[in-house]
This record gives sequence, structure tokens and C-alpha cells, in this order.
Amino acid sequence: MVITVDRERCASSGQCALAAPEVFTQDEEDGRVVLLDENATGPEVRRAITGCPTQAIRST
Ligand code: SF4
Repeated sequence: MVITVDRERCASSGQCALAAPEVFTQDEEDGRVVLLDENATGPEVRRAITGCPTQAIRST
């Protein structure tokens, strides 16, 4: 599984960073998502993907 994030879609809600803080964080300037580990897996990652309000996170 490879995770990708679309920063253009990101609404800076921070849900992903709360759900999986070792995989996602937020840019200090604009609050948009920053992906820390594109190969991460597990229930936290699933929660982050399904919890994103703008569907900005995908896994392939
Ligand atoms: S949950 Fe979605 S909208 Fe919120 S910060 Fe993460 S990627 Fe952006």
C-alpha cells in the first residue's frame, strides 16, 4: 500500500494527524497535511483515510 495526499483538497482540519500522528502532520504555515510515511499501514491509517472530510488521502 502506498499513501498519497492531495494538498490542494486538504482543508487543514487536522483529523489525520490526530488519528495517525506518526504518519501525518500539518504544515506549520498553512495547516495542510504533510505525509511522513507513504508506506505506513494499519488501523490508524485507515481511520485517517476514512476520517478525512475532503477525501484528500488515498491509498493504492
Ligand atoms: S484530515 Fe484531510 S483535510 Fe484534514 S488535515 Fe488531514 S488531509 Fe487535510
